[in-house]
Amino acid sequence: MGPPGAGKGTQGDLLSAHFGVPRYSTGDILRRARSEGTELGLRAQRFMDAGELVPDDVILGIVDEVLGKDEARGGFVFDGFPRTVVQAEGLGTLLERRGVSLDAAIDIEVPREELIDRLSGRHGQDARDDDRPETVARRLEVYEEETVPVLDWYDRSAVPLLRVDGYRDIEAIQEDLRERLVG
Ligand code: AMP
Repeated sequence: MGPPGAGKGTQGDLLSAHFGVPRYSTGDILRRARSEGTELGLRAQRFMDAGELVPDDVILGIVDEVLGKDEARGGFVFDGFPRTVVQAEGLGTLLERRGVSLDAAIDIEVPREELIDRLSGRHGQDARDDDRPETVARRLEVYEEETVPVLDWYDRSAVPLLRVDGYRDIEAIQEDLRERLVG
C-alpha cells in the first residue's frame, strides 16, 4: 500500500525478483483488461478514468483468480491491493480458505507535495491516462478516505504492518524492506 506515486510498482518488482515470487498489481491487471477490451476492462474503465476505485467485488474476483495460480503457491507480492477495508477482510477470507497467511502488509509513505511532483512528471513512456492533474487530486483523496483506514485495520490485526519511509533512494527503501521482511 501507499498513495499513488509512492513507488509501489518499483518496490514490488524488486521484492518479487529478490524473493522469486510473482507480483500481482491489480492496476496492471485492470489496465491490461482495458486495453484488450474484455468485459472486466469495460467494467473498470470509467472508475479508473475518474480516479475512483473499481468495486470491491470486481477486485476480489481478480485476486481469487491469481491466488489459484500454481505460480502463487510459493508466495506472492500484491501491489496496490488491498485498497479498502472490505478488500482487506475479503483477502483474509480468501487466504484462510487456502490455509495461507500474510507475512506482512507494507505501507510506503511519501509526503503529498512530493507525490504531486512525481505524478506530474510521469511523462513519455510512463504516461498514464489517470495522471491528469484533476484525476491525480482525486486519487490522492480516495487514498486518504479509503486506504488509510486499511493501515489502521492492519495495525490492529495479527499481520505485521511495515511502514517505510518512501522519500529516499529506491535502493535504500528496498534494502530496508528486505531486512524488515526477513527480520
Ligand atoms: P494503480 O496502478 O495501482 O495506481 O491503479 C490504477 C487504478 O486502477 C486505480 O486508480 C483504480 O481505479 C484501479 N485499481 C487498482 N487497484 C485497485 C484496487 N485494489 N481496488 C480498487 N481499484 C483499484
